[in-house]
Amino acid sequence: MNNVFVYCELEGTTVADVSLELLTKGRKLANELGCQLEAIVAGSGLEGVETQVLPYGVDKVHVFDAPGLFPYTTLPHASILINLFKEEKPQICLMGATVIGRDLGPRVSSALTSGLTADCTSLEIGSHEDKKVGKTYENLLYQIRPAFGGNIVATIINPEHRPQMATVREGVMKKEILDANYQGEVVRHDVAKYVPETDYVVKVIDRHVEKAKHNLKGAPIVIAGGYGMGSKEGFDMLFELAKELHAEVGASRAAVDAGFCEHDRQIGQTGVTVRPKLYIACGISGQIQHIAGMQDAGIIISVNNDPNAPINTIADYVINGTVEEVIPKMIKYYKKNSK
Ligand SMILES: Cc1cc2nc3c(=O)[nH]c(=O)nc-3n(C[C@H](O)[C@H](O)[C@H](O)COP(=O)(O)OP(=O)(O)OC[C@H]3O[C@@H](n4cnc5c(N)ncnc54)[C@H](O)[C@@H]3O)c2cc1C
Repeated sequence: MNNVFVYCELEGTTVADVSLELLTKGRKLANELGCQLEAIVAGSGLEGVETQVLPYGVDKVHVFDAPGLFPYTTLPHASILINLFKEEKPQICLMGATVIGRDLGPRVSSALTSGLTADCTSLEIGSHEDKKVGKTYENLLYQIRPAFGGNIVATIINPEHRPQMATVREGVMKKEILDANYQGEVVRHDVAKYVPETDYVVKVIDRHVEKAKHNLKGAPIVIAGGYGMGSKEGFDMLFELAKELHAEVGASRAAVDAGFCEHDRQIGQTGVTVRPKLYIACGISGQIQHIAGMQDAGIIISVNNDPNAPINTIADYVINGTVEEVIPKMIKYYKKNSK
């Protein structure tokens, strides 16, 4: 009762990284609240699935295993969460801000009249004083995310309704195993008790899963280009440098909007979040929406012709010059030294 729950997304029988990241965060929140962390896994052929989640400090895994539960469809998964939450009364429920989470979260929260904050960038526990009614609420979930076009960072709370629900994008939280031998309870539910037969009305007949074309999220070195790269040809230079450094290429939204680079390489609030060891920002000014997706990089190098570009304030090294002058020199240098 009143625990922290994480809905774990599956691809086949593999738990998604975003869910493992949320279990890591969920464990920390549960520790602060002095409650348990519980995971929900729903799919087909899930023997032994608990071994994927228990090491993240999960105290209880709810397994729903039935032929109609994979691939994901809205109705059965929503019924599982709604009916389980009516029994378990969680205080917090987290899920990935993925295609599935964005479909499932609002449905569950509207059925339970709970409220939901999408795309949180941070989650904390804190109190809130409602001065109008003279009441202080303790141990609320602070659901923190950029608002008003990224101009402010808002802290959103649900003082009265439960569960407090939030979605978080992949890569925003860090995934960390707590204890490889962590002992938790596994509950295998009778799916028919939670899901009426009519929920299986939608059948997935054919399914195409496109493999990611790059590994931007996991790359140890990211070379990102901005509007200052000037053109698609400018980005070709970045791909050449990336080849020398075994890096991946990312982009700012302005560069993507200008057609210099594909959308799936956009880094930032409305793109991918990256945490590489080295981030080289080329012709990027460093607006808050971009920084939101790369600020946790180990070392940041900025190449910019404006010494006052905002990105320079968070960069470890600044190369003041044009990308046309600096990038070819870097390519030449690394080519020479990698031989
Ligand atoms: C709701 C919302 C969400 C957003 N989400 C994102 C997001 O996810 N990711 C994102 O990146 N942005 C996002 N943005 C847009 C963001 O506000 C900025 O507009 C964008 O990041 C700017 O990209 P930029 O730095 O490449 O371009 P600019 O701001 O135009 O900066 C270009 C930089 O290049 C430098 N430069 C120019 N020519 C050269 C040269 N020849 N050599 C070297 N340097 C040069 C300039 O000095 C400047 O610093 C979002 C905005 C909103 C409102």
